[in-house]
Parts: sequence; C-alpha cells; structure tokens
Amino acid sequence: MGKKTFELSTEKKAPMVIELRRKGATYRQIAKWLNISVRDISKILKEHEIKGYAERIEERLAKLEEKIDGLAKIVRTGFASSGVTFICPFCGNLSKFVYDKSKKLCVCKNCGKTI
Ligand SMILES: [Zn+2]
Repeated sequence: MGKKTFELSTEKKAPMVIELRRKGATYRQIAKWLNISVRDISKILKEHEIKGYAERIEERLAKLEEKIDGLAKIVRTGFASSGVTFICPFCGNLSKFVYDKSKKLCVCKNCGKTI
C-alpha cells in the first residue's frame, strides 16, 4: 500500500476494506494496511452487509410480486369464468368478478376494484 492509500477518505477505502475482508484479512490487518480505525472497518462492513441483505430482499420481493400477479390473474379469470361468489376484500360485499372492458381486467361487480 502506497502513500496514496493512506490519504484516501474512509469512503474511498470502503471497497478495499470489503475486498480485503473477503480475502480473509483480519480487522487489525486491514486497519494497519489502510490506516483506518477498526470502528470504521466495522461500520463499512456492516453497511455492506445491510446493502447486500436489502438487495436479496428486493430480488425475492420482485419474484414474489410476479408470482402474486400470476396467482391473482388465475383467481380473477377463474372466478369470473366459473361465476364463483366471494366476499370482496375492498367493499366487503358478496360479489362476483366481471370483466371490465376499459380496464381489460376482471373486477368486483360492486366496487370495480380488483386483486
Ligand atoms: Zn368490491
């Protein structure tokens, strides 16, 4: 590590901290090599961990939304074509799904909302 590394801001050192840690360096080694406090290393790694966690949740959420959209479509069209009645979660009335041409969706015949 040259002099330039020592002069970098903590923010700029973050990717190096993450990489060194990934390669198995200890907090003490990273602190020495990058001239950074153990507290800052801890903060950087925690933020990195949270960011990764958030990204995984977003991916799973997107997949779930896709599944729910598909299921909702099956339920709407299935209920509509078979004439099944249900308690609408939006208006609370006993209802059926009917096809709404303008929305191009099957909606509650009472309130016009849909899942
Ligand atoms: Zn309704």
